[in-house]
Amino acid sequence: MQIETLILGAGAAGMMCAAHAGPGTLVIDHARAPGEKIRISGGGRCNFTNLEVEPARFLSGNPHFCKSALARYTQWDFIELVSRHGIAWHEKTLGQLFCDDKATQIVAMLRTEMETSGAELWLSTELAELSHDGSCFIARLTREGRTQTVKARNLVLATGGKSIPKMGATGLAYDIAAQFGLPLVPTRAGLVPFTFPDGRFSALSGLSLPVRARAGQAAFDEAMLFTHRGLSGPAMLQVSSYWHEGEDIAVDLLPGQDLTAALKAARSENGRRAVTTALGHLLPPKLVAHLSESLPLAGNLADLSDRRIAELAEALQGWHLRPQGTEGWRTAEVTLGGISTAALSSKTMEAKSVPGLFAIGEAVDVTGWLGGYNFQWAWSSGTACGREIASRRAAS
Ligand SMILES: Cc1cc2nc3c(=O)[nH]c(=O)nc-3n(C[C@H](O)[C@H](O)[C@H](O)COP(=O)(O)OP(=O)(O)OC[C@H]3O[C@@H](n4cnc5c(N)ncnc54)[C@H](O)[C@@H]3O)c2cc1C
Repeated sequence: MQIETLILGAGAAGMMCAAHAGPGTLVIDHARAPGEKIRISGGGRCNFTNLEVEPARFLSGNPHFCKSALARYTQWDFIELVSRHGIAWHEKTLGQLFCDDKATQIVAMLRTEMETSGAELWLSTELAELSHDGSCFIARLTREGRTQTVKARNLVLATGGKSIPKMGATGLAYDIAAQFGLPLVPTRAGLVPFTFPDGRFSALSGLSLPVRARAGQAAFDEAMLFTHRGLSGPAMLQVSSYWHEGEDIAVDLLPGQDLTAALKAARSENGRRAVTTALGHLLPPKLVAHLSESLPLAGNLADLSDRRIAELAEALQGWHLRPQGTEGWRTAEVTLGGISTAALSSKTMEAKSVPGLFAIGEAVDVTGWLGGYNFQWAWSSGTACGREIASRRAAS
């Protein structure tokens, strides 16, 4: 069977690419349904983009790489598409846009767009073997126990990253990239909860509070959640992408507040009040009890010198923690690293050294913040690639 374009992976990027690439395109996926990560995303409502999309909110070995695709297919373009399909949406927080109803509406929309463009979709299909004969890619596919050989001028790697193997994530895109000599940036789990040893926070499990969390140069003002295994919540997921093993994270438990001034004022007002009681007005009392196990919080406010107040403020507004690790691929929302952007054209997503080979979406070393940024990268990179394929057809 001779086709123009074979897209591996019917996820967010692969379906978006097919919607633009048009006739002569075959999308395959080993799963029984397309867009499974879209279906479960955003608690079933899919945080499909963000009003505040900008290149600085993406991590990559080359921070400039994502600019072109994001500028040529923006959040406004995707919002227009969603609205055109009659899908109701709302802004939840921090520019994050969600479906009012169900994430499966986005999957259905992409299927409709693919069908309209003339692209075909084969599910429950595996790639058994891949080679290149000098002009075409030759893929041996297995589907419902039968083997079929497909010849394609273009091959698009859209099988995503390694996160959540239970949902069918594999390293196929990386293996094929390596087969064709493309460099890879080592992968690590991103947007993932931290783990701490010995059930350190298990007594606080379920407690959530607003914090400013920092790892390296990155800081996020969002909620932190204590869990049986460690720390989660948006603030922790965000900094996890900037964290490296063996490093500390810093947590300001009272973001935007001047704890030194607050404690001094409380001391003048009522010096006989216990330090833990005063802190219990500013922080959840359960957390204060936990902190008192490692910080000198005994005694009354009157016992605190200015220096001790400053030390206490420093400890609570720059709480240094060293995670043991992260929950890893099992729960990570994204994969950092992947196919090096140095190997790809930022305009078309085509490999510079292998004409006709493209890589899009999470498989590429571009990772967004939490909040709809990763889907926007899938839509933008998928569109860049799909449009290029369609324009080459038009030109030939
Ligand atoms: C729980 C969860 C929630 C998320 N929520 C959000 C959110 O709300 N907003 C947001 O922006 N991002 C979210 N993300 C991230 C987002 O889902 C991904 O960044 C995005 O789906 C990447 O798109 P992709 O097309 O590159 O890969 P995917 O969507 O992962 O698609 C890859 C496809 O390739 C197929 N595949 C893999 N290996 C093979 C193989 N060997 N053979 C054949 N097919 C294969 C898979 O079955 C899959 O269909 C979430 C991720 C998770 C895990």
